[in-house]
Amino acid sequence: MADYIYTMEIRLTPDQLKGVNLVQDVARAAGITLYLTGGAIRDIISGFTIRDLDFTVQGNPLKLQKDFERAGAQIAGHDEDVRTLFLVLPGNVRAEIGMAHTEQYDKIGKPPEIAPASIQEDLRRRDFTVNAMALSLNEGSRGLLLDPFNGVADIEAKLLRILHNYSFVEDPSRLIRAARFAARFHWPMEERTQQRYDAAKENNYIEHISRSAVGHEIAQLAHEDDPLNVVRSLEREDWLKVLHPHWSSAKVDANGLAQLMKTRQQMVDLGYTVDPSAAVMHFLTARLSEKDIADLRRQIPRKDLVEAWRDIEDHAKDLAKRLMGKEAATPSRTWNLLSSARPEMILFLAVTARHQSVAQKIKNFLTKWRQVQQRIPLPEMTELLITPQLPEYPKIARDVFMLLLDGKLRSRTETLKFLKPFAPPPPPPPPPPRRGRGPKAVTGAPALVTGKVPGKKSETKGKGKAEPAPAPAPVASVPVAKTHAKAKPEPPKAKSKPTKQAAKPVAKRPAKARKTAPKKAKSRKR
Ligand code: ATP
Repeated sequence: MADYIYTMEIRLTPDQLKGVNLVQDVARAAGITLYLTGGAIRDIISGFTIRDLDFTVQGNPLKLQKDFERAGAQIAGHDEDVRTLFLVLPGNVRAEIGMAHTEQYDKIGKPPEIAPASIQEDLRRRDFTVNAMALSLNEGSRGLLLDPFNGVADIEAKLLRILHNYSFVEDPSRLIRAARFAARFHWPMEERTQQRYDAAKENNYIEHISRSAVGHEIAQLAHEDDPLNVVRSLEREDWLKVLHPHWSSAKVDANGLAQLMKTRQQMVDLGYTVDPSAAVMHFLTARLSEKDIADLRRQIPRKDLVEAWRDIEDHAKDLAKRLMGKEAATPSRTWNLLSSARPEMILFLAVTARHQSVAQKIKNFLTKWRQVQQRIPLPEMTELLITPQLPEYPKIARDVFMLLLDGKLRSRTETLKFLKPFAPPPPPPPPPPRRGRGPKAVTGAPALVTGKVPGKKSETKGKGKAEPAPAPAPVASVPVAKTHAKAKPEPPKAKSKPTKQAAKPVAKRPAKARKTAPKKAKSRKR
């Protein structure tokens, strides 16, 4: 049997996994039953990018707003009708917590009657089999996959299949969703689904689409990996004009969008967590009028997206201005400024900067200046015992990098000359072996953990506030990795003469080794 918890854990990003744990903790404390549902399960199983986390609870999630806020989530909006809470979890993870419910459609074009329900009933009101699965996150059944419509089989067959014949009639937004998923995954509709789709199209059921469904579908475009492909596909199917009568692929700034997605990938490869959704909306609607854009924004349920999209140009202008001023007069100052800027702004400005100097600075920040890190003489620093164990290591590493960036250290000799005064005195020789229970040995290991560069977090996820500028990741991470790997598994060599590099970690080990070794041997025998 498939272990879906394991699959979930390896497929989610670390931040998404933390998000699942956060939601799980809040639900557990509130005594509410929780499932991971919908697209998140589909993407976990199919291997596609997991864009957001959809949770379903048996109860009213709107009552848990305060608990989520206390746990570190931001409330990005809610939908009173279907009792859904929109959250941004730490690390920019988008999540929705919906109430398990049924939808009773009595008349075409009229909104359904919503009633709280069990998760099994909730799955029956979903759009496609591949979206009608739930993974239990509850004690006692954690890891159990509810798949009443054989969604896993349809994922394997790469097919979109509705759950019943009236699906498109009941909720015509599913027509748009079918086209969107077909374009994104390149999965065709199963035969009967295609027939129902064609019939619904011919009968113009789309005219009964609800306003809120239109808003939801507009916002979904912002999160596509290839938004232009989806927009073109919706246009071919005549659905784009449903989202807005003046919208067409000709209104898209295709070059800007392509550049944006390319730069986004570049930033992801550098380790940034960057949410391009607001910028995507900017380019998708670049040639629409202000009024049309305002119409689109009004319909989007997630206000965090609307605000980010509305403010993106102003924020980018502010950053551009700062990049042209004294604050960015030297490469090191520019580095510091951009390191504390929101990655979303760097991304947007990288594509839209009008001033050559601004564009060049961002380009250098993302490419050339990173190579300067390779000129930091890490082996020599280790020789000098300037390693992450030193409390002042992050500052030293940062200062060297800044001086190299500004061309103030022009050669290896100059760099070493700068570094030498920071070398700590060599450690005392190891104490002679003692019998009996000595004080607990202290290894260098815990200190190594702090080798993480302060401010790195703000480099990747910063919220735009000016913070102490971080050193670039590799400056600290390389020595951390090396020393850590060496210090941890190395068995204590009480008799061997410590080398210069190994002197510090080895020095205090014999006491611990003598103390712990027999114990371990004993417990293994048992
Ligand atoms: P995406 O990857 O685009 O976010 P998703 O499937 O997660 O895909 P959402 O719009 O976030 O899409 O919806 C979450 C889940 O809610 C869906 O997987 C589906 O189960 C259900 N759902 C959303 N819209 C509808 C609808 N119109 N009719 C039925 N079920 C729906």
